Amino acid sequence: MTTPDATPQSSPQSPSPSPPPPFRFFDLEVDRIRRISPSLVRVTFTGPELDAFASGGRDQSLSLFLPHPGQSAPVLPDATAATDEASWIAAYYQLPDDVRAVMRSYTVREQRRGPAATEIDIDFALHPDGGPACRWAERAAPGDRVRVLGPTDEDNTGVRFRLPESADWVLIWADETALPAASAILEWLPAGTRARVWFEVAEAADRVEPLTRAEAHITWLVRAESGEPRTERALAAVRADKLPDGTPYSWIAGEAGTVKALRRHLVNERGFDRKAVTFIGYWRQGLSEDGLREEAAATASAE
Ligand SMILES: Cc1cc2nc3c(=O)[nH]c(=O)nc-3n(C[C@H](O)[C@H](O)[C@H](O)COP(=O)(O)OP(=O)(O)OC[C@H]3O[C@@H](n4cnc5c(N)ncnc54)[C@H](O)[C@@H]3O)c2cc1C
Repeated sequence: MTTPDATPQSSPQSPSPSPPPPFRFFDLEVDRIRRISPSLVRVTFTGPELDAFASGGRDQSLSLFLPHPGQSAPVLPDATAATDEASWIAAYYQLPDDVRAVMRSYTVREQRRGPAATEIDIDFALHPDGGPACRWAERAAPGDRVRVLGPTDEDNTGVRFRLPESADWVLIWADETALPAASAILEWLPAGTRARVWFEVAEAADRVEPLTRAEAHITWLVRAESGEPRTERALAAVRADKLPDGTPYSWIAGEAGTVKALRRHLVNERGFDRKAVTFIGYWRQGLSEDGLREEAAATASAE
């Protein structure tokens, strides 16, 4: 599958009938829902086979398949009828638009293994352009069914945050779609790691402080408090900062145009080693994730 990813490598997670290990499909059910801030909804899922799910933590991503309104479960091609990944994808796209499950990329905010059940949380950013995933999260209720393509081994390529041993400090920039991933990264960082962090959110009440043992200096950029365009606001904030000394590792994720501009600033103006900048476009202004996939497929077939 191709995600709306600004990194050169595409997602390893393929929605094929037998995705290459360590990925597989899981049928999940909504257990509970909690509004953690005005723009973020946390949905907790359980499932009969979730014990086999193995999140690598940090920015672990998965592919989420959602039903359309009126459907009781996501509709996907019969895996047993497909011989390989290409035929499964072809069968997926042959299903009518209003029947075929909505496919979106999300982050495992947390996996918990309890004595009674294994659970995973996904935090959904609610956005005014309201795509199907956002609308699904707004309406989600206990018992709702979804399917995910997720990892069965913690060491998997759906984790992009890879802290090099040579790094003296970490730079993180995230908007609210990447706040779940960045928060999990901050929870994971070894005690005392120096981190310079920028979080962009819609309003002041969306500032959900992450728990961390790192020496993290966090700046919140609140859109409701400034009329500046998204990318200019982000660039101005990072540009104005006197960054720590030493060798940096950077992880930036969120709106693709902003992420691209920030990466350019870090590499071209700040002299960051491009290999030490992990940058991921989580969404793009004005284009749905389906549109991004179509664009990526068209680019790939033109090459
Ligand atoms: C690896 C990865 C991990 C991700 N993890 C998360 C996560 O944990 N939580 C999360 O909320 N999102 C996450 N995202 C982003 C999420 O997949 C996109 O925001 C997705 O577009 C939402 O789907 P949708 O159906 O709501 O909107 P779509 O149908 O895809 O888009 C409809 C319209 O909404 C716009 N849009 C999409 N997202 C936003 C937004 N946040 N703000 C304003 N406009 C928007 C699009 O530009 C488009 O115009 C992740 C993306 C990737 C690639």
